[in-house]
Amino acid sequence: MMSEEKALNFLEEIIEEDLKNRTHQGKVQTRFPPEPNGYLHIGHAKSICVNFGLAKKYQGQCNLRFDDTNPSTEETEYVESIKADIKWLGFDWDRELYASDYFETLYNYALNLIDKGLAYVDPSSAEEMAALKGTPTTPGTDSPYRNRSIAENRQLFEEMRAGKYADGAMVLRAKIDMKHDNMLMRDPVIYRVKHAHHHRTGDQWCIYPMYDFAHGQSDSIEQITHSICTMEFIPHRELYDWFIEKLGIFPSHQYEFARGNVNYMVTSKRRLLQLVKEQFVEGWDDPRMPTISGLRRRGYTPGSIRSFWESVGVAKRDNNIDINLLEFCIREELNKTALRRMAVIDPIKLIITNLEEGQSISLPAENNHEMEGAGERDISFSNELWIERDDFMENPPPKYFRLGPGLKVRLKHAFIIECTHFEKDADGHITTVFANYFPDSKSGSDTSGIKVKGVIHWLDVKTAKQAEVRLYDRLFTVEDPANEEGDFKDFINPDSLTIVSNAWIEPALLEAGMEDKFQFLRLGYFCKDKNSTAEHLIFNRTVGLKDSWAKEVKKG
Ligand code: ATP
Ligand code: MG
Repeated sequence: MMSEEKALNFLEEIIEEDLKNRTHQGKVQTRFPPEPNGYLHIGHAKSICVNFGLAKKYQGQCNLRFDDTNPSTEETEYVESIKADIKWLGFDWDRELYASDYFETLYNYALNLIDKGLAYVDPSSAEEMAALKGTPTTPGTDSPYRNRSIAENRQLFEEMRAGKYADGAMVLRAKIDMKHDNMLMRDPVIYRVKHAHHHRTGDQWCIYPMYDFAHGQSDSIEQITHSICTMEFIPHRELYDWFIEKLGIFPSHQYEFARGNVNYMVTSKRRLLQLVKEQFVEGWDDPRMPTISGLRRRGYTPGSIRSFWESVGVAKRDNNIDINLLEFCIREELNKTALRRMAVIDPIKLIITNLEEGQSISLPAENNHEMEGAGERDISFSNELWIERDDFMENPPPKYFRLGPGLKVRLKHAFIIECTHFEKDADGHITTVFANYFPDSKSGSDTSGIKVKGVIHWLDVKTAKQAEVRLYDRLFTVEDPANEEGDFKDFINPDSLTIVSNAWIEPALLEAGMEDKFQFLRLGYFCKDKNSTAEHLIFNRTVGLKDSWAKEVKKG
């Protein structure tokens, strides 16, 4: 029997149709075109999965093209981070290209349009141009400079390049139609004067092409067959086609799909830059950031991000995706792969009264019962243990299956214990809990006949190591901070980071590598932070074991 095939998304349908018709001699060439003005975020990952994914599926190629035509905001640091993030996500580009490498070609394309009477130099101010642009419902008016001679336009444009004019003194515009229904077709600006240093071309240029004049032509130069972008570029498509047609260059085509937006996150580099610059977060890779580097530091895996976008799918309708789906994807993976360990993040002491001081029992503890071959480690049990403060209650309500005076509970991988009494300090805080253990109740060989409902985690005081644990919550308190009234930064969650500086961890965690993922039993999934040292271990919580947020919301 044939296995059930997944339905094609609309881009796959287009490509399969093109392949059938041999539209581009059976070639599929895509590109991922980031502007190097910030770090990549979760939304970019969607575009990466789509572009690299389609090329892979159809034995095509995908270029990485830096859309670096805007000199003032672009930096080499961003170029390097973008490359690292794409590789980490598990993709590799065919060619690494830069739109700035095409500056000379694009300049010649502009001259070509001038020579065809399809572009003119306009010294009008931005305000004057805006005043003549019209509105979506009223036509625009021709610029008084629209009918300069070709020779004059050529001379002025060459002088623009030569540095004769100041920023903003004049622009080159395409000569299309000031009455066009599509505002972008009303003689759009295609070149501006900007005396600015470029991260790659240095001071070689003082005129720069606008996005619309650079993007489509770059696609065409690279013979991109399917230029895939997000829906907001739909109105640009007409202009994209116009340039290609008038220049008579390779017929790349633009296709649009819905942006991926995730709730409780902002995904605009401009806003993310504000969070970094104004120090609301530690940097671009702060584990609360929606950047790829932030998610990586938080403990997300490439596979979980890919499967997230895979399950969202590709469509044309804009979608706001619930962050719970992303968290679901990482839990699914880590449940199968993360090593189980114990940690106590809000410790109180538990004394096992019927075990002598200095006596220590070694117990086997499985590393991950979901993973074959994960093996076991030994943990030690002695008369002084750490347990979580909230696993003990002085006056437990009925159905409290953890520890309280007279109550029994199982210590994970170890024994059943029964609480006898406890001590408090002068402020009324519990300091120490006392219990007896049942030697014949050992996990795996329990002959005690005692039944308990609760299991709690614990650590041996003698072998536990101290660590810092960082607990994260959503960075914003509202679903769509960018669309709230006022500044999006007013909606930053003041409790997005809780630092626990006196947590205890198993000694086995001393050997944790940067790539290792752990489940701290009952506490969530964790990974080592990059600022960890041998003397000062830091663990980041990637995500809790279940969706605790929904519960919180209900509680109000
Ligand atoms: P930002 O607003 O964050 O700066 P951008 O679209 O300006 O985003 P680019 O560097 O130009 O950033 O984006 C590179 C590619 O990634 C573009 O093709 C863009 O359409 C795509 N992209 C950006 N954000 C998303 C998103 N949220 N979902 C899907 N694709 C996206
Ligand atoms: Mg952009």
